[in-house]
Amino acid sequence: MFRIADILVILFFLVISIVLIFKPYGYEAKKILLVIEQDSFYIPYKEGEYNLYSKVKDLYGKEHPAYKSIDYTIKDNKLRVIHSDCANQVCVNTPAISKCGEAVICAPNKVAFIIDCQNILKGSK
Ligand SMILES: [Zn+2]
Repeated sequence: MFRIADILVILFFLVISIVLIFKPYGYEAKKILLVIEQDSFYIPYKEGEYNLYSKVKDLYGKEHPAYKSIDYTIKDNKLRVIHSDCANQVCVNTPAISKCGEAVICAPNKVAFIIDCQNILKGSK
């Protein structure tokens, strides 16, 4: 006969195994959620110098119109905006970001860079 405590232990392990099945652990997919006005899409978190002067390619190779006078860099695993044509320059003065959930926002340009570390679903490349 099962006792309540046994059933609770079994349920507990069941829940843990379900969580482990659906959440591939040890894999952190760091990427940037780029918000430009009403559009938002993911771009790679890759070292380099970039700008938003024309179109921006997302993680899947799709082009999004940006047309913002903003330069940004990813150096030493940190993202920062190095140039923007906005009046208050808040985004340029924001310290470099590198942690999941951190963001650089340029309100006048309606642009935001948000570091996103959630796993990308398999099948969507
Ligand atoms: Zn700005």
